[in-house]
Amino acid sequence: MLQLNLLTKLAAQLSGEIVSRNRKKFDFKGNNMTEDRTAIVTGGGQGIGRTIILDLASKGVNVVAADINLDGVNQVSSEAEGLGVRAMALQVDISDAESVQAMVNAVSDEFDRVDYLVNNAGITRDSLLVRMDDEAWQAVIDVNLTGAYLCSKAVVRLMMKKRFGRIVNISSVVAVMGNAGQTNYAASKAGMIGFTKSLAREVAPRNITVNVVAPGFIQTAMTDALGEKAREDLVALIPSQRLGTPEDVAASVGFLLSDEASYITGQVLHVNGGMYM
Ligand code: NAP
Repeated sequence: MLQLNLLTKLAAQLSGEIVSRNRKKFDFKGNNMTEDRTAIVTGGGQGIGRTIILDLASKGVNVVAADINLDGVNQVSSEAEGLGVRAMALQVDISDAESVQAMVNAVSDEFDRVDYLVNNAGITRDSLLVRMDDEAWQAVIDVNLTGAYLCSKAVVRLMMKKRFGRIVNISSVVAVMGNAGQTNYAASKAGMIGFTKSLAREVAPRNITVNVVAPGFIQTAMTDALGEKAREDLVALIPSQRLGTPEDVAASVGFLLSDEASYITGQVLHVNGGMYM
């Protein structure tokens, strides 16, 4: 009996070794899981989305860079392949249900799974409310909020079948602080928070988490376009006395997608240097 126990232990140790030998150097797959995982990142052609894709690829996750512009996603997917994972570049308009379904079908055909969705694509059409035209209101709601709804709806069925999934929605500090000139953008980003909390409650029993990352002001093409004075005024509002980087955001997204975050759902992770507490 004692011998049998020893043999069983030895066999378990050996199979553990085989599992760990099969793992990639940067293992993102948690305990006892060797299958490749796949992430869709919308707006993945530039800025924060691009950095999230390369961060996930460096951790061994297969990535789908989806964006309305093909140039950026072609470039980022070949950079991701250079990191040793499978990558796909797709053109999508996240505000269009057919386009979103075509994206998810293409990913499902290629990878047979969607483990992670990062709803990152977003736009601004800033204007004071009294001057805002209806088109600017609707465009921002359609892309930022309806886009997150359409993409989540299209992947969540696949995740439910696999009984695993992680969704991270990229909101903004203005969702909780407000910002003059951004009623449309703030409404869309605040809507994402309510959407996230409600969906998180619906899918938690299926081992699917849904969370928000809410960046403050991040150094991207958008903030590069600001003049020196506007940038100084901005930094003065931030206790950390600097703009955030796309890497700061990608690190938080990576954490919420990881197996270590499996008991965190319906939360808003603020990444803003203390600008909002
Ligand atoms: P970005 O550089 O403008 O990248 C967003 C990408 O999404 C662009 O390639 C954009 O294409 C694409 N996109 C726009 N509409 C789309 C659609 N309908 N379907 C698919 N893709 C579409 O933005 P970012 O600064 O990296 O920001 C990423 C996310 O973080 C956004 O949701 C933004 O609201 C949020 N955020 C950013 C900051 C910041 O300081 N940068 C702060 C807080 C929150 P086009 O270039 O053609 O529009």
